[in-house]
Amino acid sequence: MKVAKEILDLVPYRPGKPIEETKRELGLSEVIKLASNENPLGPSPKVLEALRLALADLHRYPDAASFELRQAYSKFYGVAPEYLTFGNGSNELIDLLIHLYCEPESEILVSEAAFVAYRISAQAARVKVREVPMDSQMKFQLKKMADVLAADSSNQIRLVFLPNPNNPTGTYFSHAELTEFMKVAGQRPNTLVILDEAYLEYVRADDFPKALDFLKTQPNFVILRTMSKIFGIAGLRLGALIARPEVIDLVNRIRNPFNVNSLAQVAGLAAVQDRDHLERVKSLTWEGLDYFYTELKRLQLPYWESQGNFVLFDSLRDSQQIFQSILRKGVIVRPVDNYGLKSHIRLSVGLPHENQQAIRALESALTELPQTKMS
Ligand SMILES: *Cc1c(COP(=O)(O)O)cnc(C)c1O
Repeated sequence: MKVAKEILDLVPYRPGKPIEETKRELGLSEVIKLASNENPLGPSPKVLEALRLALADLHRYPDAASFELRQAYSKFYGVAPEYLTFGNGSNELIDLLIHLYCEPESEILVSEAAFVAYRISAQAARVKVREVPMDSQMKFQLKKMADVLAADSSNQIRLVFLPNPNNPTGTYFSHAELTEFMKVAGQRPNTLVILDEAYLEYVRADDFPKALDFLKTQPNFVILRTMSKIFGIAGLRLGALIARPEVIDLVNRIRNPFNVNSLAQVAGLAAVQDRDHLERVKSLTWEGLDYFYTELKRLQLPYWESQGNFVLFDSLRDSQQIFQSILRKGVIVRPVDNYGLKSHIRLSVGLPHENQQAIRALESALTELPQTKMS
């Protein structure tokens, strides 16, 4: 059968290496995974209890409108329920937005080193990707991205994906920078700006954008959130789209009616009600990040301060080699050479003893492998 070139050329998403696979391959009994920005505390105990009760209803179809979930997240996020719809992870919502707004000649605009899921979804839909370089501090150059938009007089660029903070760099752009960008993007009624705030709850920067302000004033602006990170239910797949009701209505027309399964709805509902748990995860994450910064400084490895639950650093060595060496010591980290960052590693914050073990493994890997790059 004939298959489009874009599909044959697709490089599939490379997930973090699974724990069980690593144990099997290396004959290890204990393996720590700090490779997928997962929540090391897991979900709130209230989520687990709600899930146990929900098992009795597994023969029923889920609520296609996610009514209770929408009410709860409407309160949590401070938006009216008509401004919300959900997906099987925010990844599904990315697919749906591309499906909804892109035509054969359309393009999406992203920064270099932006989260790779947008590129994969676009390519799967045979949509071209325009990329703007980041700067030497691993920050997005929103000014340059605005220039690209301003020069696109034939309106080929339909979607702009802005992960903030970005994964895998952990860097962010400020309210002022987004305001400047929207002065240009806001003039383009046929370009939708998608702010992906997967890590919002971990942010410490005080000049971080107040995304809802833009939702109020800009008709072509939407926000993605996820329950995979601080809420700790990555395995159940639940993401949210916050957008004007016209956009929500269109997404609801094209999505699968039961795209959000019943357990995800139950878990998402319980997760949002345990704010103490979210606070615990947040403080554990901040402590873990500060620990990583101290240790990376001691090891004299360049790193980028992160607004997420992970840190990117430069190992000054081939990232695949350092990854394999750390793996043999029972710790799974994430090389990011698929982003063109050939000597960089992304390390997720885990429990304190996991963080310490990761640093010990890194330190001994560094002594095994000679430095091949200047810092
Ligand atoms: C982890 C992550 C997500 C979450 O994806 P889900 O499909 O909701 O699990 C979204 N965007 C970015 C930038 C991420 O790093």
